Amino acid sequence: MVSYKELGLVNTRDMFAKAIKGGYAIPAFNFNNMEQLQAIIKAAAETKSPVILQVSKGARNYANPTLLRYMAQGAVEYAKELGWEKPQIVLHLDHGDSFELCKDCVDLGFSSVMIDGSALPYEENIALSKKVADYAHQYDVTVEAELGVLAGVEDEVQAEESHYTRPEEVIDFSKRTGCDSLAISIGTSHGAYKFKPEQCTRDPKTGRLVPPPLAFDVLDAIMEQLPGFPIVLHGSSSVPQEYVDMINKYGGKLPDAVGIPEEQLRKASKSAVCKINIDSDSRLAFTAAVRKVFAEKPGEFDPRKYCGPARDLMTELYKHKIINVLGSDNKA
Ligand SMILES: [Zn+2]
Repeated sequence: MVSYKELGLVNTRDMFAKAIKGGYAIPAFNFNNMEQLQAIIKAAAETKSPVILQVSKGARNYANPTLLRYMAQGAVEYAKELGWEKPQIVLHLDHGDSFELCKDCVDLGFSSVMIDGSALPYEENIALSKKVADYAHQYDVTVEAELGVLAGVEDEVQAEESHYTRPEEVIDFSKRTGCDSLAISIGTSHGAYKFKPEQCTRDPKTGRLVPPPLAFDVLDAIMEQLPGFPIVLHGSSSVPQEYVDMINKYGGKLPDAVGIPEEQLRKASKSAVCKINIDSDSRLAFTAAVRKVFAEKPGEFDPRKYCGPARDLMTELYKHKIINVLGSDNKA
């Protein structure tokens, strides 16, 4: 049993309370490798933004759970080296799908876990989420639960169709599970293809897809039911067209990739939405930078020469999100 406190990590409780009061949101960035982690920590340290490092089940399988845990510990020390005296870093399990997985993460030193029972019938979701919350709270680890289903594909998580969170269920759900934050479904979606072309309109000038707006009326109704309760948005990448264009220009093929417009996330950040999950955007930045090097310098075979530019582009992306979208800079 390792306590996250010994690793210099924090849970989400105070972080979320401050974010709701201050009208900003905490970035939750997924990481699977060293370059992503370096970019996240550098961006957070340079902007003095609290940050949530997310590890999905897929990331655990890809990188090895023990290695990831020590990387997160190293991240805290790296942040201090960068001049961030008291780093506000959460290590969070993204989309935990069983009690055993959540328990394993709590025992390994995670400061926060998500239990995603959203695909289960309502009562089973409550029972599973409560079991995780009861265990995690013994160690002061915070718990995110989910109500409502997001569409899209991300690692092992996938659903054909979304259905919005039902505001009439949120009080009962949060009370009976004891969760610390609630992931909701209001039209965000996992992956780089968040909407099918037929769900969108097309900008006549650029020919780009324009996605349907988020259901802010549902968010408002949820906030009315649970005033001041921390709300989480998954699947909130914006799929920057500059990266999509770079990827396509240098031999990739991402037709009609589309995300959530940043102005909608900016609006959500000012509400009780206090955690916004961004994964696909960094994947796009990484891929765009690597493809550019491969296309322009076909003789290059030193991974540092293409992972380095990928890291730089991701750092730029994370800083942009922190400063211009979520507003979490200078809050840690
Ligand atoms: Zn998610």
